[in-house]
Amino acid sequence: MTQRIAVLGATGSIGDSTLAILATQLQDHEVYALSGYQRLDKLFALCQQFEPQRVCVPMIAVDDFAKRLSDAGLRIDVVGGAAGLIDIATDSQTDTLVAAIVGAAGLSSTLAAARAGKRILLANKEALVMAGQVLIKAVKTHHATLLPIDSEHNAIFQCLPSAIQQDNTQIHNPSHGVRKLWLTASGGPFLNQSFEQMQQAGVAEAIKHPNWSMGQKISVDSATMMNKGLELIEACHLFDLPEDKINVVIHPQSIIHSMVEYSDGSFLAQLGSPDMKTPIAHALSYPARINSGSQPLDLYALSNLTFIKPDLQKFACLKLARQAMQAGAQATIVLNAANEMAVAAFLAGQVRLTDIADINEQALSQSQAPLLGADADIEDILALDASARRYTNAIIANIV
Ligand code: NAD
Ligand code: MG
Repeated sequence: MTQRIAVLGATGSIGDSTLAILATQLQDHEVYALSGYQRLDKLFALCQQFEPQRVCVPMIAVDDFAKRLSDAGLRIDVVGGAAGLIDIATDSQTDTLVAAIVGAAGLSSTLAAARAGKRILLANKEALVMAGQVLIKAVKTHHATLLPIDSEHNAIFQCLPSAIQQDNTQIHNPSHGVRKLWLTASGGPFLNQSFEQMQQAGVAEAIKHPNWSMGQKISVDSATMMNKGLELIEACHLFDLPEDKINVVIHPQSIIHSMVEYSDGSFLAQLGSPDMKTPIAHALSYPARINSGSQPLDLYALSNLTFIKPDLQKFACLKLARQAMQAGAQATIVLNAANEMAVAAFLAGQVRLTDIADINEQALSQSQAPLLGADADIEDILALDASARRYTNAIIANIV
C-alpha cells in the first residue's frame, strides 16, 4: 500500500536526503505534504517536483505562497505557522511524518504526530532532549511508531534484536544480554587542534565538518561535541537506558555509526558510508529494505578504523549533557534552549565557539526549575524553554 509521507523541514539537509530517496520510490510512497521556513523558492521548486496535497510555510508567507502556487497551476492547500505543522502532522491522510525541522521548533508537531498514532521518522533530536519522557509515553499510549534516523541511533536500532526494536523496555530483559551502547563521534573539525585554535575559529571553519554535510546548527554542535551530548540524551530516551550505560567514543572515519555491546563480549556495529540516505531509507522501508542511492562502502579502500576517548576538558558540552541527563528533564530543556541561543550567537559573530560551553554551563547553573517528569505537559516544557532563552540572552549579553 502507498505510504503518504509528510516531510516537515523539507528544505533542509535531512529534507534533501529524504526527498532524494522518495524521488526514486514513488511507486510505494506519496509525498503528501511538505514544510519550509526559509528558502521558500526551494520549497516552491519541491512543490513543482512532487505536487504534494498540502504545504506549510511561515504564517506571514501563506497568501503569497498560495498565489504563487495557483499562478503556476498547482492546486495545493497552503497552511501556516506552528498550527499548520500540527495540522499536517495529525492529518488523517498522513501515514508517516519525517520530523526534520531543526531545534525546539520541531517539538510540537512531532508530539502531535505521536498522539495521533503516526509512524514518525525522527531526525529532530531536540524533541527528545526537551520532552523525551513525554514523547516516548505518547508514542506508547497512542500506538505510534518511532524510528530514529539520526545515524547513530539508527545504527543502534539496527544492532538490537527485534523484541527490543518493538518494545524498548525489553532492553532490561537479561536474556537479550545488552550491556552497553557505544555512540561513535567524528570529533568534528577541531579534533586535532588545540583549545586555543578552537577559540579563534570562525564560522566557516566551525561548520566545515570532516565527514558529513549537514545544516548549520548541527554542524556547530558537532564542532563543540554538543551534538554527541544531545545524542546521548536522545539515546537514553529511545533505548530506555541511564546515561552511564552509554559510552561515547571518537571514531574519526565515521564508518562505524554506533555499536551495541553484549554480555557475551560481542560488539555489534552498523557500518556504512557517512550518508544520511542510508538511515533514512532504513526507517522509510523498515522492516523491509530499499535502495537508498548511497555509495556502498569500499572496504578495500579503507586503510584503518581508529577509536579515541573524548577529551572532556576540550569538549565540555559532552560533560554538561551527562550532568543534565542525571539531573532530569528540567535540566535537559534548559541545556537545549541555552545551546540553541549560544549557537545562534556564534553564527551571528557575537561569541566565540568556545564560549558556547560556558554559556550552556552558566544557564544550567542559574536554572531553578522544579523537577519535570513524564506527566509534564507541553505547556510547562515550552514555558521553561522560553524562560531559559530569556536568561541565556542575558548571559550572552554579558559576554558580547
Ligand atoms: P537544516 O538547517 O538543514 O534544515 C532545517 C529545516 O527546518 C529547514 O527546512 C528549515 O526551513 C526548517 N526550520 C527551521 N526553523 C524552523 C522553524 N522555526 N519552524 C519551522 N521550520 C523551521 O537542518 P538539518 O541538518 O536538516 O537538521 C534537521 C534536524 O535533523 C536537526 O534536529 C538535526 O539535529 C537533525 N539531524 C540532522 C542530520 C544531518 O545530517 N543534517 C543528521 C542527524 C540528525
Ligand atoms: Mg547523529
